[in-house]
Amino acid sequence: MRRDFPRKVKAQAILRANGCCEACSAKLKVGEAEVDHILPDALGGDPVLSNARVLCRVCHRAKSSDDIGRIRKADRQRDKHTAASAKPSRIRSRGFEKPPAQRRASSPLAKKLPPRRMG
Ligand SMILES: [Zn+2]
Repeated sequence: MRRDFPRKVKAQAILRANGCCEACSAKLKVGEAEVDHILPDALGGDPVLSNARVLCRVCHRAKSSDDIGRIRKADRQRDKHTAASAKPSRIRSRGFEKPPAQRRASSPLAKKLPPRRMG
């Protein structure tokens, strides 16, 4: 469940930011300010002023994609943890089977490019 900032907190945050992006200091037009969770709500951040940051759209987009990475990582860690405690034997299946090591001339890793001449 997403807990967005109450309107009052948003207003306070925008007031605090003085109409500027708090990340890159870009001047924001009316309606352009986006109030961001410093700690994403998915990671336990509360919708309070101390967790609010006013961002322009560019910064908000950059921050949000960064958040997604952090949230996914937290999910992975949690899954790992719960899987380890709840189902101890399930993960111990075959896993990744590695093919026997063989030298293939066509392998991109084995092939070294000749040094490129500059100029
Ligand atoms: Zn910005």
